[in-house]
Amino acid sequence: MVGEVHVNPLPPERFAEVLSGEQFSRFQEVIERGRDLLGGRVVWTVNSTARGGGVAELLTSLVAYVRGAGIDARWMVIGGDPDFFRVTKRIHNRLHGFEGDGGPLGRTEIDVYRRTLERNAQELEPLVRAGDFVLLHDPQTAGLAEPLREQGATAVWRCHVGLDEPNDFARGAWDFLRPFVEPADAYVFSRRSFVWDDLDEARLAIIAPSIDAFSAKNAELPPEVVGAVLRAGGIQSDGAGGHPSFVRADGSPGRVDRRVEAVQARPLRPSDRVVAQISRWDRLKDPIGVMRGFAEHVAGVEDAQLVLAGPSTAAVADDPEGVEVLAATIEARERLDPEVRDRVHLLSLPMEDAEENATLVNALQRRADVLAQKSLAEGFGLTVSEGMWKGRPVIGSRVGGIQDQIVDGETGVLVDPGDSDAFGEVAAQLVRDPERAGELGRAARERVRDEFLGPRSLTQYLELFRRLVPGAANG
Ligand code: UDP
Repeated sequence: MVGEVHVNPLPPERFAEVLSGEQFSRFQEVIERGRDLLGGRVVWTVNSTARGGGVAELLTSLVAYVRGAGIDARWMVIGGDPDFFRVTKRIHNRLHGFEGDGGPLGRTEIDVYRRTLERNAQELEPLVRAGDFVLLHDPQTAGLAEPLREQGATAVWRCHVGLDEPNDFARGAWDFLRPFVEPADAYVFSRRSFVWDDLDEARLAIIAPSIDAFSAKNAELPPEVVGAVLRAGGIQSDGAGGHPSFVRADGSPGRVDRRVEAVQARPLRPSDRVVAQISRWDRLKDPIGVMRGFAEHVAGVEDAQLVLAGPSTAAVADDPEGVEVLAATIEARERLDPEVRDRVHLLSLPMEDAEENATLVNALQRRADVLAQKSLAEGFGLTVSEGMWKGRPVIGSRVGGIQDQIVDGETGVLVDPGDSDAFGEVAAQLVRDPERAGELGRAARERVRDEFLGPRSLTQYLELFRRLVPGAANG
């Protein structure tokens, strides 16, 4: 039931390319000290999916650099039946403050949860040794903390979800989880406001997520490659004659071959001005609110087009919500005035090849004049840093971790989550004012370099591990 995700190491030395000299030499020291501290120990990271969503995106890169640093990091994925995942999805939605499927979280659900994690723990126990570190991600894995501590491992629970002001749904889910989480040696949250008051303060750490500057998602792409990738995907008419190629994490060459499924009157033209949001088809990402703001305020700007893009829902057959949200978005587009409707492009990106998908996202983010992340709730929002790193002006909602990335008016713009008009007005201003957009974009890239690249997260994890090894804290 437990599976291992094999991750090829990546050299942390490549951060010399993007960090300042001082940042890089500090990072090298951290790595050296980490190697000393962790020599002979394994750092296990455990979650419940190898692909799809922000957590898998994050682990793919962090595990690779830790392995590249000569530390034995391994990524394990737990298994469970549909009942288990129904319960954990319910918990996930409620920790975000939403009811989800409306089902109970009572004794039956506790039994399902406990039994599934006991079976997973039995498979991990022969592998995990005393002295190892185990990073348990999100509600799905919290129940492993106690059994793995009993093995002598140090267990850290890492929570990626949360909301700024807990409501009754969130409190109900936390009541369920607390007994499983409490035994952990440390608790990590993405931001301070997500921390539950009843946890032991001495065991807390705040570590924000980070993006991988070198993955297919974020690697530099020259403008002619952006054009070629968009043309190959059927997103834009003529490109500048480049090749739609990219470099895979293992160093081998890749090419964008698959076309997106598009609901659009015509492909983009190179001269169009583009506002884009690229997110899963999820109500909490509010694609219809983005469309409303665009229709009311941006569509009047000559050549302005809106792109809403997400993963192909056909490929994600087990996510009925994605299909529904895309269908609702298509319907909302149909109801627009024809002149405005024809400026709205709904794109479902092929998912067969994760790095081809990432390259399409990369090209779209680079092509956009303005990026949006108008979420109604958000743990962190990797798409925000992804856009900022590409020097784009990002308009984000004032929720969750988006607020940590965007310094309002300096490294992007924040708007209230329910305010489509405010969003539309800012988008129209930025589309009309490329100079201001460029200024925000340049400051955004600097902010990501300083705060949201892998070295910052890795440094914080190693500091936490040092705190947890008896006698090592001052070493
Ligand atoms: N993403 C992707 N392909 C898509 C749409 C989104 O790879 O078609 C990625 C996006 O680039 C980001 C991740 O999915 O890396 C979403 O993470 P985020 O934290 O923004 O939101 P989550 O999906 O975890 O709620």
